Amino acid sequence: MATLALLGGQPVRRKPFACWPVFDDSERQAVLEVLESRAWGGYNPKVAEFEQRFATFHDARFGIAAANGTVTLETALAAAGIQPGDEVIVPPITFVATAAAVLRAGAVPVFADIDPVTYNLAPQRFAEAITPRTRAVIPVHFGGHPADLDAILQTAAKHGLVVIEDAAHAHGACWRGRKVGSFGHFGSFSFQQSKTMTAGEGGILLTSDAELAERARSVSNHGRRTGGAWYEHVRLGTNCRLTGWQAAVLMAQLARLPGQLEKRARNAAILGEKLGAAGFLAPPAVDERVTVHGFYLYILRLDPTALPGLSRDLLVEALAAEGIPGASGYPHPVYGNKLFDAYPHRGIPCPEAERFCCECFWVSHEIMLADEPDLDDFVRAIVKIRDSAAELVSMAGKAS
Ligand SMILES: *Cc1c(COP(=O)(O)O)cnc(C)c1O
Repeated sequence: MATLALLGGQPVRRKPFACWPVFDDSERQAVLEVLESRAWGGYNPKVAEFEQRFATFHDARFGIAAANGTVTLETALAAAGIQPGDEVIVPPITFVATAAAVLRAGAVPVFADIDPVTYNLAPQRFAEAITPRTRAVIPVHFGGHPADLDAILQTAAKHGLVVIEDAAHAHGACWRGRKVGSFGHFGSFSFQQSKTMTAGEGGILLTSDAELAERARSVSNHGRRTGGAWYEHVRLGTNCRLTGWQAAVLMAQLARLPGQLEKRARNAAILGEKLGAAGFLAPPAVDERVTVHGFYLYILRLDPTALPGLSRDLLVEALAAEGIPGASGYPHPVYGNKLFDAYPHRGIPCPEAERFCCECFWVSHEIMLADEPDLDDFVRAIVKIRDSAAELVSMAGKAS
């Protein structure tokens, strides 16, 4: 039996996987055009063009491009009129920005537990978390799997809540044939380096409500109003405009997205079958109402009884040593961060979120764009770890 790389053996793989981000002459040409136009900032016409294209592609009427996918959430909360002391329900399994945006608005994040199968906000836990102070909910399409929008929208409508979809993981993902980000009052996307469409940094807010679009645009552009004078400021705003450079790159990235989504879906099907057969990992389950999964994260759950003593963290460490990039998992739900010591919040603990942080991990989405022989290296690494799990667990026990 081959020795695990973590125990001094040869890794399964030394070659890198597919490079990220992907670019070609279309990005190169687009950036040069912005350079030569001398309109480098947010008023380059490519920004408005990108906003419209991205919104149309995602079944929404309006797009407001922004500096990143965190200020888009802050802008949405401001435009929706969220006030200090209001409660906003968020899932505990997400990037910190989802909950931090609520704190930045002076509001109170209320954590409602996740569904153990999709890892998204559980509709029942969401409903139970509502109080007379609840004003909004931010479902996250975690890893690219759309949240249960049927149930969440229905409950939100019943209680008059604002819905802001955090679609930072879900470019192009569809729920019942319609793109996510178009269901709530707002949909928020990120174009940060690791996301499935990127300009290094960037974000966009989608809405189909003209009044909300005007307010969000105003908040993100110094409180200006459409048609107003340059030095006319009608509300408190800030500057989080996206630049011309980024819009130019993002138009090329958007053109590439559908093909990449298809490839990710193909690879997910291949991996699901092969990794499931390894017998100790649960591949991602996809709700039948999901018609396109974004597969930003390929999430696996370790069966804690299958290989006694093998922790998620030891598995992740062993995988990295075998040359599989980007394997990681959250150390704790987002509310476990020290930051929350200093701010009011509610709803913890969330047992499913806690379990997620012990049993679940993901691999970087470059792997989802790889070719089948590369995927087989990933599977080989998993099988190799399974076959040497007892030895790995005993060595780790001695080392600690
Ligand atoms: C990446 C991310 C954001 C915000 O992203 P920026 O890095 O600020 O663009 C927000 N929510 C989630 C879930 C994210 O993963």
